[in-house]
Amino acid sequence: MPAFLRDIFKSMSTYKIAILEGDGIGPEIMREALKVLDWIQTSHGVAFELLEAPFGAAAYFDHGSPFPQVAVDVCDAADAILKGPVGLAHEEAIKIPVDMQPERGAVLPLRSRYNTYANLRPVSLPKALAHFSPLKPEVIGEGLDIVMVRELVGGLYFGEKTVGVNANNKRYVTESLYYDEDQIRQVCRVAFDIAQGRKKVLHNIHKSNILKSSVLWNEVLDEVAVDYPDVSVVNMLVDAAATHLCLNPGQFDVLVTENMFGDILSDQGGGIVGSLGLMPSACVGDGKAYYEPSHGSAPDIAGRNIANPYSMIGSVAMMLEYSFAMPEVANQIWSAMQAVFADGYSTPDLAVEGVTELSTGAFGDRVLDKLNAA
Ligand code: NAD
Repeated sequence: MPAFLRDIFKSMSTYKIAILEGDGIGPEIMREALKVLDWIQTSHGVAFELLEAPFGAAAYFDHGSPFPQVAVDVCDAADAILKGPVGLAHEEAIKIPVDMQPERGAVLPLRSRYNTYANLRPVSLPKALAHFSPLKPEVIGEGLDIVMVRELVGGLYFGEKTVGVNANNKRYVTESLYYDEDQIRQVCRVAFDIAQGRKKVLHNIHKSNILKSSVLWNEVLDEVAVDYPDVSVVNMLVDAAATHLCLNPGQFDVLVTENMFGDILSDQGGGIVGSLGLMPSACVGDGKAYYEPSHGSAPDIAGRNIANPYSMIGSVAMMLEYSFAMPEVANQIWSAMQAVFADGYSTPDLAVEGVTELSTGAFGDRVLDKLNAA
């Protein structure tokens, strides 16, 4: 390599990114995300070393594990992890042993390994794109801009489980919901920090009228709130929150909740913006973070080049902001994607009257055109 090129290369930041394309639509939407990473390298003097690794159902069939050692090693070596959705349609999933099914055998271990305790899920629909929402214009108003903060490494999904046959010869199952106060405190701090940087209102979503876990959650949240006197807390039961999200979503800015409530409410978020394809996410803790669409592998549309890559490209934007401190580049990516929609294009999941449908690849190409033109 000529000396001048070596000097240029040395002056560039180099980031290692683990690329886990996953199952179903994963490879299709990851391809579009990689185009954007490539654009960043050529336009912003950053070098990415992309470390691809098998992860999910395909990894189980090829390597005997949905999170094989080779993927663990790659993720350990990476500065950040970009993950596509994993999983199979129910009829296919049941052919894999229960503990090797990719969500249980790969996603939960990934979350535990890097202690990514806060899952940030933006539910965002600028006013210019409000026509994508199934909600009435008067409900959507000025558009939606909500951040859901979901606890990601505790609660029912990670609690002890037993299955067996009871004294009455009936099959039974138990799953326990465990949180200690530190687990609650750490995710609440993330949510308060985000709320403090925005409208200073935090909706705490709980079920303390029934669940003792929510009673502790609320106690700890109140303790954390003392350090954030400028943030108002609105407490809301999760069942009521589901209704409010449909009837008056504009009241929410930042919302924090435990693992399972957040899983369900954020998919409802995808519903009110018009498609799960608009739902990227960041899974962050005190160390390495990983980034993934909020949705699953969409087996019903896999292999047809019609999936919406916004969620995957948006996950790249979140990675740039949270792992690589490049918020301006992240903003360029959001703007480029929204400009493609504003020009009257969308993938079929969002196609409404007057919108021209694009394939996954064509949407990615138009995003690239916008980025190059900016
Ligand atoms: P899903 O999220 O895959 O799909 C739900 C609906 O949304 C489908 O109609 C699908 O076509 C649509 N959809 C999702 N993403 C889209 C996109 N980018 N563009 C256009 N349409 C999109 O939920 P599911 O069908 O219940 O689950 C399929 C598999 O995904 C299951 O195995 C499930 O366990 C798994 N899953 C994985 C994750 C993860 O990897 N973190 C998360 C959720 C579900």
